Amino acid sequence: MYRKLLSYSSLLIMLTLLMAGSIGCTTTADQKVAASSEPATERYFLFDTIVSLRVYDERMTSQHFDEVGALLDRIDQRMNRQLADSEIDRINQAAGKSEVSVSEETFKVVETAIDYAAASGGHFEPTVGPLVDLWGIGGEHPAVPEEGELDAAMKRMNYKDVFLNPASHAILLKKEGMSLDLGAIAKGYAADVIADYLQQQDFHSAIIDLGGNILAMGSKPDGSPWKIGIQDPGEKRGQHLGTLEVVNKTIVTSGVYERFFKADGKVYHHILSPFNGYPVDNDLLSVTIVTDTSMDADAMSTSVFSLGLTEGRQFVESRDDAEAIFVTTDHQIHLTSGLTHAFKLTNGDYQLAE
Ligand code: ADP
Ligand code: MG
Repeated sequence: MYRKLLSYSSLLIMLTLLMAGSIGCTTTADQKVAASSEPATERYFLFDTIVSLRVYDERMTSQHFDEVGALLDRIDQRMNRQLADSEIDRINQAAGKSEVSVSEETFKVVETAIDYAAASGGHFEPTVGPLVDLWGIGGEHPAVPEEGELDAAMKRMNYKDVFLNPASHAILLKKEGMSLDLGAIAKGYAADVIADYLQQQDFHSAIIDLGGNILAMGSKPDGSPWKIGIQDPGEKRGQHLGTLEVVNKTIVTSGVYERFFKADGKVYHHILSPFNGYPVDNDLLSVTIVTDTSMDADAMSTSVFSLGLTEGRQFVESRDDAEAIFVTTDHQIHLTSGLTHAFKLTNGDYQLAE
């Protein structure tokens, strides 16, 4: 079940959004009269993540917010592997035994995940479940696993062993013990579902924020671009290294800071390498993808984070619908060409790479 969050703990208020001058804006002639400079807001909880929704329209009602909650509930009940009897749980329970027919949307998300696995040469690995369970990152008792345990988990991971039947929307995991985990893609999908719903209801100015995965719908109520804060990967949530001006884009970041634990002075974060079983350890601290659909941005940010700067950059540049911000371990910021004007560096600890 999703839970609406009623208490606004200051710790949890993520300052991902800089709404300079949001009060007292005047609307332009072609703007809807209902556009509002003060957002209607609501919070939910999905996939262990706070979802914050801000809709800049005075017609937004509590019933609309409830309907969004029901959509998030539906996605949770289908795609959350931790939830007994969700569609993904049923697929995982039947691993090595039988196929399971699922809803069209779950099928589509799994299919997209497999496409990203193939396109990233296996860096994106939707059958990463056994490894996620072993590390327990984000849970109560995370721990560094033994080598033997890592080997055993990795033997149960391979996107090529996921069989999809498009005619019946059936999914089969070939080996017993395999486990699908959509943690790197389903939040993006949920953001797209919320945006579609708002669009259908004739709302056009909103910020959908799933734990820092942002979908900035339309423009600010005064018609100017949104200014989105880009997380400083060396700091707690809400500290920024720069801002990005966008209209109708999704901005999704994967980084070392999101979920992690420390053991023996070492930081272990939650994006795991399917090749050695450990948290990905390369030249990147974070990667932010800017594109049109949040599901793609989410899958791409995890893929590109694991690929590293050089290959990751090639991956993004091979797609004409995506741009990226790479932050490297030596605090350099690399931008793809489409972002050079939109990005403003605001933090002196970082430098724009030549
Ligand atoms: P966030 O959840 O912070 O937005 P990501 O989108 O990068 O970050 O997703 C990380 C989650 O994806 C992990 O918590 C885990 O469930 C899953 N995951 C970890 N490593 C991989 C991987 N190599 N490929 C696909 N999914 C992964
Ligand atoms: Mg992701």
